[in-house]
Amino acid sequence: MRPPKDFKVAIVGGGVCGLTCAVALAREGVPVEVFEAAPQFGEVGAGMGLGPNAIRVLREIGVFDEVLSCSGEACLDKKSFLFRYGAGEHEVIYDYPVQPDDFVMSIHRAAFLNGLVCNVDPTCTKLNKRCIDLTTSSESPSRYILHFQDGTTSEADVVIGADGIKSTIRRVVAGDAAPAHLSFSNVVAYRGLVPMEEIENAGITTDITSRPLLFIGKDKVGITYGQTAWMILTKCQHLVAYTVLGGRMLNLVACSRDRTIPIGTIKSSPDEPWATSVPEQQLLEEFSTFGEDAMRMLKCIRNPSKWLIHVVYPPLESYVRGRVALLGDAAHAMLPHLSAGAGQGVEDAFVLARLLGDPRTNTTNLEEVLCAYDLVRRPRVQKIWDGSLAAGNCYEGHGKHGFTTEGVRNDLTGQWDHVWHHDIVKDIQTAVEYLREIGTF
Ligand SMILES: Cc1cc2nc3c(=O)[nH]c(=O)nc-3n(C[C@H](O)[C@H](O)[C@H](O)COP(=O)(O)OP(=O)(O)OC[C@H]3O[C@@H](n4cnc5c(N)ncnc54)[C@H](O)[C@@H]3O)c2cc1C
Repeated sequence: MRPPKDFKVAIVGGGVCGLTCAVALAREGVPVEVFEAAPQFGEVGAGMGLGPNAIRVLREIGVFDEVLSCSGEACLDKKSFLFRYGAGEHEVIYDYPVQPDDFVMSIHRAAFLNGLVCNVDPTCTKLNKRCIDLTTSSESPSRYILHFQDGTTSEADVVIGADGIKSTIRRVVAGDAAPAHLSFSNVVAYRGLVPMEEIENAGITTDITSRPLLFIGKDKVGITYGQTAWMILTKCQHLVAYTVLGGRMLNLVACSRDRTIPIGTIKSSPDEPWATSVPEQQLLEEFSTFGEDAMRMLKCIRNPSKWLIHVVYPPLESYVRGRVALLGDAAHAMLPHLSAGAGQGVEDAFVLARLLGDPRTNTTNLEEVLCAYDLVRRPRVQKIWDGSLAAGNCYEGHGKHGFTTEGVRNDLTGQWDHVWHHDIVKDIQTAVEYLREIGTF
């Protein structure tokens, strides 16, 4: 029997990563409350992929089977992406191999979130609680007071910012520099979820049901009038397609990137709208160099939404300040090209929960324990952040080895190795070792 904890954790944000953290902490016996801004837990109607690393972590937390059964129709598979050319007849470029123990899961986001919500004590979740500020308590300076938009407050010893890319808590951790870390990636993603019968009626001959597919594009050069003169635009595209909800829907993500602008050049305000509905014609024109089957799929998207993809860039110098820690997109939003962002947030949640749940962790050493979290998580996540950027370059015909079938294959070979086959339990041991070395444990 573990001794009860003498501290309480508040999680700001009940998205995929915040809720995973809540479940993991509760299972470690750590008192936790989740404060979510929205009136209910919810996710965009789209799919997401989780790699073997995230699946292993969900199993370690002891929540995987429940998530799978609550979320009903997730596809758990031993097949990874099949890469094809976007243009022409969509010739196969590379079949990404998986190892015998590698399971990859395609899941509807809302279903995944439901699976997590089933596992969180409802008395510990507070909805309609948008955190707008964090101060320290005058009576007990080591405690934080969370201030909510509705005028209410709550106290906690540790605050975890799981409040996504537009994070409020990032300001507490990164200080005045926080806005400079939020950058437009120059990638726009058109997203759509199409009923399979519509796809079947569209006359597509490429096999799109048995594998997740990624169609690799190449530069599309155009001319546009800038602020004062005509300019040449070089855009690159790729298209991702996989089934979700037991094969009933096809999830489509069509990415287009303006390569003329270096990443990080355009800084953004969280107040701007990042997702808008666009006319179907805009999407079709953008992908007009793609072959027939890809275009047929894109034509099936009704009311496509266009997302301006933002990232945390340049990377934060720390995910932690005092007893406040960031996780998930709040800490390290990355390009979606390795389908790894949420998986990294799930890993963050696991490491944090194991360290905070350690019997030696108590109110006297919380800051050191959070530093240990930062120590092991930042290098791991940064490697994947960089890998996501490199993967995007390859999918857009600008990989390191060039745009030949051989070059693209070289770039793709092993690109998920470091994401999927990382020993996260060893990272926790490294963090514990560090805490022993500095005399905390
Ligand atoms: C096109 C695209 C495709 C992607 N595909 C994949 C994929 O296949 N696999 C993968 O692993 N990742 C993928 N990702 C990345 C993944 O979506 C994110 O990494 C993940 O959703 C981040 O989860 P989060 O919980 O950190 O943030 P969010 O999901 O953004 O959740 C944040 C939560 O905090 C709440 N909140 C915000 N501010 C406050 C506040 N001030 N107070 C209280 N609550 C607040 C929000 O309402 C929200 O519920 C993709 C991303 C994109 C853009």
